[in-house]
Amino acid sequence: MKSDLPVIIVGGGPAGMVAGLLFARAGVHVTVLEKHADFLRDFRGDTVHPSTLELFNEIGLLGDLLKEPHAAIDTMTLNLMGERFTIATMKHLPVAARFVAMMPQWDLLDFIAGQGKRYPTFDLRMSTEATGLTHDDAGRVSGVMLANGETLSARLVIAADGRRSVLRDAGELPLEDLGAPMDVLWFRVPVPAGTDMSDVALGTIDKGGMVVVIPRGDYWQCAQIIEKGGFAPIEARGIGAFRERIVAIVPGLAAGIDAIASLDDVKLLSVALDRLTRWSRPGLLAIGDAAHAMSPVGGVGINLAVQDAVAAANILAAPLAGGADPDPLLARVQDRRWTPTTRMQAIQRFAHQRVIEPVLRGEITRVPLAVRLLDTIPLLRRIPGRILGLGFGRQHVQSPLAKEFS
Ligand SMILES: Cc1cc2nc3c(=O)[nH]c(=O)nc-3n(C[C@H](O)[C@H](O)[C@H](O)COP(=O)(O)OP(=O)(O)OC[C@H]3O[C@@H](n4cnc5c(N)ncnc54)[C@H](O)[C@@H]3O)c2cc1C
Repeated sequence: MKSDLPVIIVGGGPAGMVAGLLFARAGVHVTVLEKHADFLRDFRGDTVHPSTLELFNEIGLLGDLLKEPHAAIDTMTLNLMGERFTIATMKHLPVAARFVAMMPQWDLLDFIAGQGKRYPTFDLRMSTEATGLTHDDAGRVSGVMLANGETLSARLVIAADGRRSVLRDAGELPLEDLGAPMDVLWFRVPVPAGTDMSDVALGTIDKGGMVVVIPRGDYWQCAQIIEKGGFAPIEARGIGAFRERIVAIVPGLAAGIDAIASLDDVKLLSVALDRLTRWSRPGLLAIGDAAHAMSPVGGVGINLAVQDAVAAANILAAPLAGGADPDPLLARVQDRRWTPTTRMQAIQRFAHQRVIEPVLRGEITRVPLAVRLLDTIPLLRRIPGRILGLGFGRQHVQSPLAKEFS
């Protein structure tokens, strides 16, 4: 392993881009490979949670990040069977930004790319897809193979290529599938001029259905939760029935719903919940969804992915900048992130089994006591607010800013 080779990070999502930025600012040469030509894809979570905002605060970039267009949400509401309930608040959190910034993820990633480019150690290659790994004579991972037939050598490969990671398969890292009972239908509904956006709650559970509505300026990004494999019957019933069903669950979408011209405008997103039981092998480390695919429940996946990136940089950046062999340190990243990840996945599984499955089976016929308690006792709302906002095992940036950049 030559210490003049770059660290190659595969995947320009939240995990890969934050890791790239932190390694580069510590003086480690990184090459981030992203298979798409830009970050402008429709399916991206939009939530930047307080703990992620705090990381940007720690590296002096929070003010600039918050200049990007966003909506700040410090209180979570839920429409349940026609009534609105307040179920979480973040106003008390001990951080600089006590809210979730609802920011299209392509804006967040563009912002990080722009910051990374300030460092000569940061090399972002768009339209560059990794297809596999290369190994040296001792079997250590030594680089990546690209779709164009080239190979790139690396002193360390970081797989941040998301929940369908090619590299975790190529690295034969063992996967535990936890299962998920639902899929998501992802579509946009325009917001008619003059509409009060607060008329539509972030989450609605009603009439045996569940829809999440994310405000994105002149349109709502909507996610309907359906049972796994449930799209075929929806397709068979056609676009008219689909529109009626959505409006029955969220009446506030009625004025814009006809803009969904056909079911071609509705994307089926498959939900997965899984984790690697080993995140690394010599020369290779998996982080983010590649190490543990998160369900959309709670919108915490981006947060966990970013926290993994910070942990990886905290543990590896200074030794790499000093020319050390990273292999003996790789398992420490998993050690640090395992409990926060499995706790959050346990909460997501609980929500799958105790909320989503009963909702989809039409079994929730009255408002659960827990929801009523959260709504009536403001202090109680701080608990879900803290879990959603800061997660477990929060990381602080400890990776250094290289002397030449300070
Ligand atoms: C329907 C749905 C909605 C969700 N909504 C939210 C939400 O609102 N908030 C939230 O926090 N989380 C949400 N999540 C979870 C969240 O999307 C993930 O947890 C998060 O994106 C993980 O970040 P990541 O960087 O690990 O992976 P990703 O965001 O998946 O990024 C991986 C990147 O790698 C690139 N890539 C993949 N393969 C290759 C390759 N071979 N070569 C080069 N590049 C490659 C991809 O193009 C992508 O840019 C949602 C999940 C689902 C399924």
